[in-house]
Amino acid sequence: MKERAVERLSEHVWRVELPCDTLPPYDHVNGYVVAHDDVGVVVDPGSDQREADALLASALSGAGVRLLKGVLLTHTHPDHVGGVPALLRSETARTGSPPPVYVHAAEAGALPEEWQATFLSDGRVLTVGDVAVRALHTPGHSPGHLSFTVTGPGSTLPEAVLVGDLASAAGSVWVGLPEGDVSDYLASLERLAALGSPVLGAGHGAAIVAPARRLRELADHRLEREAQVLAALDLGAADAAEITRRIYPDHPEAVLALAEKSVLAHVAKLMRELKVVHLGSDERGPFAVRR
Ligand SMILES: [Zn+2]
Repeated sequence: MKERAVERLSEHVWRVELPCDTLPPYDHVNGYVVAHDDVGVVVDPGSDQREADALLASALSGAGVRLLKGVLLTHTHPDHVGGVPALLRSETARTGSPPPVYVHAAEAGALPEEWQATFLSDGRVLTVGDVAVRALHTPGHSPGHLSFTVTGPGSTLPEAVLVGDLASAAGSVWVGLPEGDVSDYLASLERLAALGSPVLGAGHGAAIVAPARRLRELADHRLEREAQVLAALDLGAADAAEITRRIYPDHPEAVLALAEKSVLAHVAKLMRELKVVHLGSDERGPFAVRR
């Protein structure tokens, strides 16, 4: 069995690699424990594998958590919520009642009703001992995506921000239709950068230890892709499939189908900015550069 990392991200935050089925290149989702004194919350217990339950339980006890005050979800993709039922069951067995599940209202419909999710809106603060966990609405990857700042007692700057699938230490993150929105994504990256946190906890992969630089890179990557979409349309009007083939001439069909959804998310932004026009009525185009 692969050795899984439990890493202390900051004074009150632990990252636990939970093995699960997710998009390559990852084989895990990062669950996080935020704890102070003997109180804690779990963010994104995303794996439904039994091995993950034990890893999470040992991270909680390692962090000294006796009272689990809540389960916080950055968003509702299956690889971020898959372990919620097991955690609710084990907490119910241990204490007699399940902890509340917190999620943004825009995504609550994706969750089973019996979880009785509590809605978190932008700016809402949950206290974990004397630590403040603040929800930030950071859409872009999905409409109700939340990030969580963790601020220690007596401090005003966050010690860490948990950013779900908005950022990763390597590679790029998924922003594509139907849930993705490139304009929102870029605004969310800027918002995260302005927080001045020394470290970001990503949904997958290693901690982001130089947030300002990494967030800039991720934004630049989107703007490069946008320039590629415009350059492809400069060759003449094209539908989503054609634009995608112009950008990725050597990619296999299976990859192109996914890439097309990302291209369409860029086209949506360019249309909103009146740089690209939609010809006809098919949602996949054709599209043309506005002259
Ligand atoms: Zn996701």
